Amino acid sequence: MDDLLYANRGAIEAAQERCFSEMIGLAAERHGRTRALLADKNLAVSSLRHLARLPVTRKEDYMREPDAFLLDTQGLPEEMHTVWDTMYTTGSTAGVPTPFVSTTYDFFRILEANRNMLRLRGARPDDVIANLFPLTARPHGAFIRTLHAAASMNLRVVAALPGNPSPYFTLGNDLGRVVEVVARCRSTILWGVPSYVRRVLARAEEAGADFSAVRLAFLTGEGLNEESRDEFTRSLRRLGTREAWVSVSYGATEMQGGMVECAPGSGYHNPAPDQFHFEVVDPATLETLPDGKPGLVLLTHLRRRGTVLLRYALGDISTLSRERCPHCGSWTDRLTTLPRRADALLKVKGTLVNPTVLVQAAEAVLGAREFQFVIRDGEILGLNVAGAIDESLSKRLSDNVKRACGVTPAVEFVPDEAISDASKAWKTRRVIDQRRPM
Ligand SMILES: [Zn+2]
Repeated sequence: MDDLLYANRGAIEAAQERCFSEMIGLAAERHGRTRALLADKNLAVSSLRHLARLPVTRKEDYMREPDAFLLDTQGLPEEMHTVWDTMYTTGSTAGVPTPFVSTTYDFFRILEANRNMLRLRGARPDDVIANLFPLTARPHGAFIRTLHAAASMNLRVVAALPGNPSPYFTLGNDLGRVVEVVARCRSTILWGVPSYVRRVLARAEEAGADFSAVRLAFLTGEGLNEESRDEFTRSLRRLGTREAWVSVSYGATEMQGGMVECAPGSGYHNPAPDQFHFEVVDPATLETLPDGKPGLVLLTHLRRRGTVLLRYALGDISTLSRERCPHCGSWTDRLTTLPRRADALLKVKGTLVNPTVLVQAAEAVLGAREFQFVIRDGEILGLNVAGAIDESLSKRLSDNVKRACGVTPAVEFVPDEAISDASKAWKTRRVIDQRRPM
């Protein structure tokens, strides 16, 4: 199924149907959650056409009993039975790490998906990837799969090991050393989270480091608005090649990879349509929505043998397209708008606040400058902004946030690393609720 990515839509959907038929057959007998659902509701689901008969799986369902989502692989071939690795979901609002188990068979699929991500992004045989993801206290796909992605396409990769994720780890590098590693290895692709890659680029400019080979940045893990993308692109082109560009991806532990852009603004391509099926549903009624209508994004695994998720809500709102991509010509499905969190509203000072609205209100004033909302005990909406104190900026920011959500934030200026610190988490969370539960 190597070239399904560039096959026609009919071939893609036929392959998806074939894979789903096998997947649901296994799940009906060997997947605790699905077995219970089918028996309980007396459901018949044999084709993707019947998929909507299955209820939506919430993140909470999976977090509550991850074992119910593991396929019982007794008696299947060795590759499907052997656990290759276990990654953990992290950084979600709920914050409870949940194991995502991959068998050898799954790992082979992960390599295929990651290879397709690189193909879509235009990676070349002579590329050198700088892995700018930090290590984490639990195995996490960002650092680890970047190494595997390089393997899948026989590319060179250098792990820069930013920060120290644990007092038991001693090999982490500070920012200056990371910049040296990128330059020394003549890296052509910078792969990391926006907040950290931005710091690497800023330091490289200050230090006059030789980043002349850099031609691409792969950014994932945090939303990136168009203003920030432009700033990244300008910075890359000052330091690297004149055509350097930014490819954003929508990644998820549940994919062990991500949906990627083939060109700026192209939408986020499903890199392995034989492995992942996407649909979009109304967040309130959970009814399937037609393509192009914004709603909750659901992922269905089509070819897994470890953790298997069917109609799983990734927790983001976006729109789906099955039209041919005008940039690369692929018929794979794409999310055409930047996915935004569909998290529950937060209550601050008695006012319901939408985290997405908060972030947008701050971005409108701050552009590419780093920031983070921290809701503290005493119902304080703190807003930490990276960089030097700027009273007029503080005033504009405070007014804009108040206008957008009805609550006045307490703006504070802090050092860059107080917000995007690789030693604290692998990505920057824009809104943190630190209130103790009542
Ligand atoms: Zn494309």
